[in-house]
Amino acid sequence: MAIERTLSIIKPDATRRNLTGAINDRFERGGLRIVAQKRLRLSQETAERFYAVHAERPFYRSLVSFMVSGPVVVQVLEGESAVAKNREVMGATDPAKAAAGTIRKDFAESIEANSVHGSDSPENAAQEIAFFFAGTEICP
Ligand code: ATP
Ligand code: MG
Repeated sequence: MAIERTLSIIKPDATRRNLTGAINDRFERGGLRIVAQKRLRLSQETAERFYAVHAERPFYRSLVSFMVSGPVVVQVLEGESAVAKNREVMGATDPAKAAAGTIRKDFAESIEANSVHGSDSPENAAQEIAFFFAGTEICP
């Protein structure tokens, strides 16, 4: 067990429904601390680069279009085992399969418009945090 950081994104379906505070409450109640946060509109190019690992997946084009369709909130979450903890708080990718009380079960609209992104390993978390934040923007 160790203190980790993970990258979180509150997706356009959630910002559209004014759910930023409700989702942040789930993170904080789950023991995660928001140590950096900014709201922005992803460019097509940024969304394509961020999701480049999924470029060959059938949903890639649609996912990129969705992610540029409205504002997102990018965040660094910090806490004990933050990567796994955040994925627990988010719930399964598909809201129909997500456990009760998770963000995706309670807020997601579909497997694509599933309200939040969270890094899937400490290594990817470090890369994804550096993708969006300078070290000076993170304030633990
Ligand atoms: P994220 O990476 O956003 O935290 P995840 O790790 O649970 O979610 P991935 O498999 O990495 O899921 O997929 C990335 C994103 O692509 C999902 O969060 C979702 O928005 C979208 N996605 C995944 N699978 C599908 C699918 N079958 N159809 C449509 N969109 C999908
Ligand atoms: Mg993923």
